Amino acid sequence: MRDRTCHCGHRLGDAAIQEEPEYTTWGWIMLSMLGMTPRPHHISFRCFLCRMEVGQSRDPKLLARRSARSTAA
Ligand SMILES: [Zn+2]
Repeated sequence: MRDRTCHCGHRLGDAAIQEEPEYTTWGWIMLSMLGMTPRPHHISFRCFLCRMEVGQSRDPKLLARRSARSTAA
């Protein structure tokens, strides 16, 4: 994986970089209209300060964790 730095200088692994699930169009429909929690298409690693994406992951374990989180509560 290429080591990318965001606009304000953060990198993968920094506290400012957050994991955000990204859904497909169908995923958004399920989420907003049907109230279901679809499995994310991939995980984006995004800086919460400048919103720049510094990486992506399609690790099934990571995706499962993201889709399970909202149903576990
Ligand atoms: Zn940034």
